[in-house]
Amino acid sequence: MVAFMEELFADLVVIGSGPAGQKGAIQAAKLGKSVILIEKDAYPGGAALNSGTIPSKSLREAILDLTGFYQRSFYGNKLETLEKISINDLNFRLYKVLEEQRALLLRQFEKNHIRLIQGSARFENNQEVIIEGKYRIKGNFFLIATGSQPRNPKEIPFDHKKILDSTQLLEIDHVPKTLIVLGGGIIGSEYASFFAALGTEVTVIDKRPHLLPLLDAEIGLHLQKALSGLGLKVMGNQELDKVIRRENDVEVLLKDGTKVHGEMVLYALGREANVDDLAIQRAGISLNKQGYIPVNALFQSVVPHIYAAGDVIGGPALASTSMEQGRLAIRHAFEMKTHHFPSFYPIGIYTIPEISSCGYTEEQLKQLGFRYEVGRAYYYEIARNQISGNDPGMFKILFHVDTLEILGIHIIGRAATEVIHIGQVAMSFNARIDYFIDQVFNYPTYAEGYRIAALNGFNKVKHQK
Ligand SMILES: Cc1cc2nc3c(=O)[nH]c(=O)nc-3n(C[C@H](O)[C@H](O)[C@H](O)COP(=O)(O)OP(=O)(O)OC[C@H]3O[C@@H](n4cnc5c(N)ncnc54)[C@H](O)[C@@H]3O)c2cc1C
Repeated sequence: MVAFMEELFADLVVIGSGPAGQKGAIQAAKLGKSVILIEKDAYPGGAALNSGTIPSKSLREAILDLTGFYQRSFYGNKLETLEKISINDLNFRLYKVLEEQRALLLRQFEKNHIRLIQGSARFENNQEVIIEGKYRIKGNFFLIATGSQPRNPKEIPFDHKKILDSTQLLEIDHVPKTLIVLGGGIIGSEYASFFAALGTEVTVIDKRPHLLPLLDAEIGLHLQKALSGLGLKVMGNQELDKVIRRENDVEVLLKDGTKVHGEMVLYALGREANVDDLAIQRAGISLNKQGYIPVNALFQSVVPHIYAAGDVIGGPALASTSMEQGRLAIRHAFEMKTHHFPSFYPIGIYTIPEISSCGYTEEQLKQLGFRYEVGRAYYYEIARNQISGNDPGMFKILFHVDTLEILGIHIIGRAATEVIHIGQVAMSFNARIDYFIDQVFNYPTYAEGYRIAALNGFNKVKHQK
């Protein structure tokens, strides 16, 4: 017997309610279009809200507060010990944030008359998606925003208790005394630093020599120093052979024969597009070699009325960039004035200490043959930092020697992910380094670092002008 399925239609059908899907859906609704948003999980919000960005940053904030991390330079190392901070203490904040964010999201959908349907969507053809046994949904346009999931090889014995990916890590029932992190990318490095700040003995293993090789090398060195200050150990140039669950711990066997033991292992070696249930081939779409949905600069797939945005199209795979991709895709679909995705956008890495950058690294400038100079300000030169806890950090501004145009900004230290936006705005208006010298900054603030770094850099070149 063929099950009856209700037939629905919308101007826009969005699959996935993470940042890309949300912003695409809201944009269409603001243009007066009817929108159906399909989400397979019980909670909308995607990885950003439920298993990635928001949980990890809530956990970070709870760790910094509960350990009194920023008070150490004044009041000694009186941090609460590992034994005293329970996973419940850490999760308390997370659940509160989740509750509020989820409610906010549902209110936004309701206010914008976006119909949220729970279920797993798959394409029947390029005009229609199906939620098995329930709905056939036709649309004028589709936005695939199904995100990504951890890439978990079958040979790793994940068990949700001791061998975990970044989603399963949120389910642990106690804070481990020792943790091995496999992978020194953004997710691995962030969690490694959180647990190290908490007092866990953390070892990160990566096949590359350093954590986060995407960073400007000088900032990378600064990070290494700060992390070793937290007791974090990095084993670089190492290849994983096997992960073995033992009775009381986990053994990680490396290709050179080294064995490392830990109470828990976080496997953070990459993510992959979430397309398993979608049957995109029925819509006439296939994945590229990297396993993502190929799109043009306007986020259109090979089928012009089917757009894709967010992690499902590959890098940079951030919540921030996914949101903007989703919005731009839908503006293009409904023929609204739009622009290309900006070539410079900030990247925020919430290690402890946090890092943010916008524009070229020094290594890239060298490679491209730019005539550049560097302005630096160290956090110990910034009064606000002394007041707030004397944390390590630096501002690094790269600018063109002849035109003085700012080419790159890299900040490591407290508030980096906030203050980067000042530099980002300046760069988007093609500002020169002396722009920061000619402005008055609030005092004392972290932002004052821009002025100190600009003076440092400008003084190096002014005689050459
Ligand atoms: C641990 C961690 C920390 C992170 N930290 C940051 C950070 O600090 N800053 C930052 O900018 N980014 C961060 N990210 C990245 C960010 O979470 C992702 O880039 C972002 O969530 C991608 O958004 P998206 O809309 O593409 O997909 P997602 O947020 O993954 O949402 C996709 C949604 O689609 C749904 N879906 C999938 N298939 C179907 C289907 N067939 N039918 C219906 N629904 C479906 C999924 O259930 C999911 O809800 C982090 C990620 C992780 C894992």
